[in-house]
Order: sequence, then structure tokens, then C-alpha cells
Amino acid sequence: MRIAVIGGGIAGLAAAYRLGQAGVDAVVLEAGLRAGGVVGTSKVDGFVREHAANAILASGVDGVADLADELGVEMVASSPSAKRRWIWIDGALRELPSNPIAFAKSELLTWRGKLALFAEPLRPARDRRLTDESVHDWATRRLGPEAARALIAPFITGIYAADAREVSLAAGMKAFAALEADGGLVRGMLMKMIRGRGAKSHGPKRRGLIAPRGGMQAIIDALVAKLGPRVRIGTSVTAVRPDRAAGGVAIAIGDKIERFDGAVLAVSAKTAAKLVSADVPGLAAALGGFVRAPAALVYLGFAPGALPPDREGFGFLVAQGEALRLLGCVIESSLWPGRAPDGAVLLRCIFGGARDPEACALDDAALIAHAKADVAKALGVTGEPIHTSVVRWAEGVAQLPVGHHERLAVVDGQARAARLVMAGAGMHGVALNDLVADARRVVAEVRGWGA
Ligand SMILES: Cc1cc2nc3c(=O)[nH]c(=O)nc-3n(C[C@H](O)[C@H](O)[C@H](O)COP(=O)(O)OP(=O)(O)OC[C@H]3O[C@@H](n4cnc5c(N)ncnc54)[C@H](O)[C@@H]3O)c2cc1C
Repeated sequence: MRIAVIGGGIAGLAAAYRLGQAGVDAVVLEAGLRAGGVVGTSKVDGFVREHAANAILASGVDGVADLADELGVEMVASSPSAKRRWIWIDGALRELPSNPIAFAKSELLTWRGKLALFAEPLRPARDRRLTDESVHDWATRRLGPEAARALIAPFITGIYAADAREVSLAAGMKAFAALEADGGLVRGMLMKMIRGRGAKSHGPKRRGLIAPRGGMQAIIDALVAKLGPRVRIGTSVTAVRPDRAAGGVAIAIGDKIERFDGAVLAVSAKTAAKLVSADVPGLAAALGGFVRAPAALVYLGFAPGALPPDREGFGFLVAQGEALRLLGCVIESSLWPGRAPDGAVLLRCIFGGARDPEACALDDAALIAHAKADVAKALGVTGEPIHTSVVRWAEGVAQLPVGHHERLAVVDGQARAARLVMAGAGMHGVALNDLVADARRVVAEVRGWGA
């Protein structure tokens, strides 16, 4: 079988790599002059900037860590100080407690909020027959309104740059949804422990945040090297048409047509809808509600000593409705080795997302001014930055709204009937781990056509 993978971001590259391993001839058609999509790393003024993803959860099943091992990419663990994280809430920076004593002393929740959180196991489970709900509704129901606002909403901002009221529990927080299905957080964890008892452990488990040494570009480079001439950059697909007579698809690349046995659409839903609008209008219509929110990253580099020593850590997230404009800030130089010149400080400030898309309409100078003011206020960073830069994405962070799985089932069905597979962020995942793991589903779909 010969398959076109349209889009050479991490989703397209991982799909093509796994298809190749399964004996399928998969060719990546990438519009840009480099593969990787939003993922990439660059060094400017001695500071190493990630263009999108900067961290991976080590525990992802069949995710980036396993792929990196296969590809021979060295992964490094984040520094131990990354355990310190803060939330900016009610006009102040408050540390996320890392143990029960710190939690008891924490100002993040009042006593009433703490008691509501501890009452979680006593609350009845939700009727399984009910449909999806938002992460906010779930958190308020199970953990109480204070924990929903101070703990869960900022966490959702950290992953989806979104309002927790808009994010699907089933699609956006699969682990919580699974625990909920077993009766709640504590009951679900107990069930998990009971089920896991006696199961064989598969080697040493990694934990925490990891990244390739030197940055995410290393994963892209390794995949591109493996795929070799099967990655065709500068190849912009303009239309995808089912070729029912030949039992495959016709792909328009400018005024040329190439035939394949099927195609993987590893582009945004908006782009995919445009490509199929003329010939698979049902799929194009079904893709209408899938959105990627814009995002802007402002990098600020400071000379050594600018960050107060008691602020060494992962960084902070901003609760909704606060006076700061940024959504969060990661202290890259504390998190990873070698990201800033000796002793210097590199901050990555995130703006926009579905929570504040208007921020992405601001020019670079305005975004940098917001970033400088916000980190001075929150972290106490002093002095003028020695490096400033902005990385923007019009289609940045894919959103998974309530009811996502139901809409996705329609999309997948429409695609399957036309010998297409939907991949890419915003379909079966958003994080790199999910997209890499999803490549196995892509292979299964393609094999299904052959059956
Ligand atoms: C600011 C930011 C921070 C993030 N942080 C994290 C993080 O820390 N951890 C994490 O796991 N995830 C993170 N993510 C999410 C993750 O990076 C993305 O979800 C993922 O990289 C998207 O990959 P993709 O392949 O689906 O899409 P893309 O990277 O968008 O790739 C799509 C590709 O398709 C190509 N294309 C488009 N149209 C055509 C066409 N007509 N013909 C051919 N090719 C075409 C594009 O040029 C592009 O290369 C972050 C995302 C952003 C924006």
C-alpha cells in the first residue's frame, strides 16, 4: 500500500514512521520548508527557545519517551527544582503544596475549600449513562468550587490554554474521566491499585517531565532522518479527492495529481476541511467545530541574578480573572540544563489561547511589555532583559470541547468511508505523547482498509 501523509508535524511524522514499520509505503507531504510543524527549537543570543512543546510527561504510554528510545534520542529529566510550582491567584503568587503538611498550611484554599476537597470520596459517583461534562463542572462537583478554581482551572490553562468550562472531561482529562467511571478520584485510584496488583512491572518506570537534551527539534530530526526521502518538504496539498474507481485517493499538489491507496490528514481540522470540501463535503462539515486557538510565546532572557533565588522552580500559572495578562510562565533555565548562557535566566511567557485569543493580535512590543511587567510583579525579576523574542502560532493549541468524542466519532466514520484517517492535534489528542501514541491507531485504520 502507498499512503500519503498530509502534514509533516509530529503527528504526521510519527504516523509515517509507524506505517513504515508496518510495511506500508507512507510518504509525508509537508507544505513548509522544514518538517516539525509547530515543534522546533532555535538558539538566539545564546538562549535556547522551544517554538511550541517544551516538556513531556515521562509516563505517557507508548509516547515520546519510548519513541526517543527507539530513535536513539537522549532524553533528560527536568531539574529537581521543577517540583516547585506556583499559582497566581487573588493578586499573589502561592506555591502549590507538595505534601500534606504544606497543603494544610497552604493559602491556596480556605479551610472550607480544603474540607470540600477531602470530602471527595464521600460524594456519589455520576450516573454513567450521562454524557460528557466540562472539566470545570466535574471539578466543582467532586472537589468543590475553590479547588476547581485554584487547582484545576490553572492546570487546564497549562495544557490547553483554555477555560476549564469549555474543555471536555472525557477527551481532555482522560485519566480523571477513567477514575470518575470507577466512582471518583480516591475510589478510582483504589480500584486501579487493586487491578494492578499482581501485574508484571515492565522495567523501570520514568516519572516527571522530560525533554530531549538540547530541545524538541532532536525528535523531529531523528524522525526525518529515519524517513529520509519519504518526507517531501515544500509540497503543499491543495485538494484530496476519493478516487472510488481506483479504490484510493487523488491528491492535488498545485496543478499535479498523485494517486495513493489512501491518505492520513495530519493537518489542522480547518485545513483538512478545506482540502476535502469539494469532494467529501460531509467530512468537511463535520470538521467545522474543531478549533485550534492562537498562541504567542514571549521569551525573556535576563543576566545572572535577575531571578530571586526563592523563585527557582518550574514557574507559575495564572488563575482566571486576575490582573496579569500572561497565562503562565515557565522558568526554562531552572527546568532544563543548557537553555541559557552560564547563570543567565530564560523565561517563557505564554499568551493567548482560547482563554485570551485577543492577546495574539497585540504586536511584539506590546506582548513583551506585558511579559516584562507581569514577571516583575509575580516573580520579582529585576533589571532589563538582555534577550526578547516572540514566537506566534495562528493555529496553536488544539481545543477539545465538551462532546468532543461524539463529534470525533462522526468525523472518523466519514473519513474512513473515503479511505482517509484523521490524525493531528485536536482529533485523538493534543500533547506530543498522545499524538505519538495515536500513530498506532492510524496504522490499525490503514490496515482495516486492506481487510
Ligand atoms: C505554544 C505551544 C506550547 C505547547 N506546549 C506543549 C508541551 O509542552 N507539551 C506537549 O506535549 N504539547 C505541547 N503543545 C502541543 C503540541 O506541540 C501540538 O499539539 C503538536 O505539536 C501539533 O502537531 P501536529 O502534527 O498535529 O500539527 P502541526 O505541528 O501544526 O503540523 C501540521 C503540519 O501540516 C503542514 N501543513 C498544513 N497545511 C498543509 C497542506 N495543505 N499540505 C501539506 N502540509 C500542510 C504544516 O506546515 C505543518 O507542518 C504546545 C503547543 C503550542 C502551540
